[in-house]
Amino acid sequence: MVAQAVPPVLTTTDPTYQTALRQYDRAVAYLPNLPSGVVEFLKWPRRELTVHFPARMENGEVKIFTGYRVHHNTVLGPSKGGIRYSAHVNLDEVRALAMWMTWKCALVNLPYGGAKGGVVVDPHQHTQSELEAITRRFTSEIILLIGPKIDIPAPDMGTNAQTMAWIMDTYSMTVGYSVPAVVTGKPLNIGGSLGREEATGRGVIVCMLEALRQKDITKSPPDISVVIQGFGNVGSHAARRAHELGFKVIAVSDASGGYYNSKGLNIPEMYAYARQHRTLADYRGEAEPITNAELLELPCDVLIPAALEGQLTGENAPRVKAKLIVEGANGPTTPEADDIFDDRDILVVPDILANAGGVTVSYFEWVQGLQEYFWDEDEVYRRLERILVRAYDEVVNTAERYNVNMRTAANITAINRVAQAMITRGFYP
Ligand code: NAD
Repeated sequence: MVAQAVPPVLTTTDPTYQTALRQYDRAVAYLPNLPSGVVEFLKWPRRELTVHFPARMENGEVKIFTGYRVHHNTVLGPSKGGIRYSAHVNLDEVRALAMWMTWKCALVNLPYGGAKGGVVVDPHQHTQSELEAITRRFTSEIILLIGPKIDIPAPDMGTNAQTMAWIMDTYSMTVGYSVPAVVTGKPLNIGGSLGREEATGRGVIVCMLEALRQKDITKSPPDISVVIQGFGNVGSHAARRAHELGFKVIAVSDASGGYYNSKGLNIPEMYAYARQHRTLADYRGEAEPITNAELLELPCDVLIPAALEGQLTGENAPRVKAKLIVEGANGPTTPEADDIFDDRDILVVPDILANAGGVTVSYFEWVQGLQEYFWDEDEVYRRLERILVRAYDEVVNTAERYNVNMRTAANITAINRVAQAMITRGFYP
């Protein structure tokens, strides 16, 4: 007798991946006409690679590191997604982040699938030359999965433009010619795009402006208070843009803790400080210290979580006082917290919409690189805003049509788009 194939079952104990899968289940419940095989397939990562590799430290010691690259889906085009350096990164977290990239790219109509990568390393514990050694070796370990037409990495938590330069150089040296389009988020002098560094934070503020209109908050910007968790790439640029537009940024935080001033913080000074010291620790400007937990519960108009996953939970969501939440980070809100925010009429602009500015300008960078024709900053920002506002309106319309919140609406839109493309392409062989 031939043994029956048992379909694999996707289970996880990782809270971030659990969140991604539950969000998926919630959205596909509104798409009953999709074939069940397609619904099942889109849950799974298409391919994933785990690597263990050595790198030499400055003191001569050789250390072993673990890294991952996951392609969640490639139906709409080459896969796209950041590389994260964090002591806590694990395969399930990368799977979740790769899945969110698929939906994010589809939502803003980019011709990309979703991917993500990570290395288990705390970048603050290493010198630049050690980070370079780790990055170059990691690149060569995952080189079979990346390429300008295959999978294009970008910065994420713990990585930056310099990391992308090392990846681009390692890839280029391997193939024997320069391939700037293998990564995005590169420095400008090797083919980066104007506006890429600021793009995610700026896009968050584009979405915040739309959300303020949607919530009918008509106060003038100086009377609108904004609280931001995280002061890295996303948080600091969101803070700068909000400050530039006249909003009152009353609290920001990073891993060193929170900084609060009810009259508004001096964001340009804090940005300069953080750039110089790589942290806000010991910042002595006009601000009182608060904890990250307190920051999330401050009375304010807008809360922008822009650091880690799983920050707004069933436990603290009842105490959140913001009128609207714009997700700069990926996965900062658990499904339990989403339900509480729905009940409390707190509008949540979901990550795959609110932080899509980064991948959108990454796409612009890739297009400019392939065409070897570069745009000015105004052009980048104009196109970015048009794409985000269009996606925002589409999510609002879907939310009204299905009577769901913005997250489920965004996921319905994105998942359906990928599913329909898959059905149109057919099933090989
Ligand atoms: P980053 O490494 O530049 O900054 C992360 C920030 O979070 C730092 O200020 C760090 O100190 C802070 N932080 C760490 N632990 C914290 C804690 N416990 N409490 C408060 N703050 C803490 O990373 P980033 O690129 O700004 O990414 C932040 C989030 O945005 C991540 O979820 C990432 O996936 C997401 N994201 C980033 C981009 C991008 O273009 N960089 C695009 C889309 C989404």
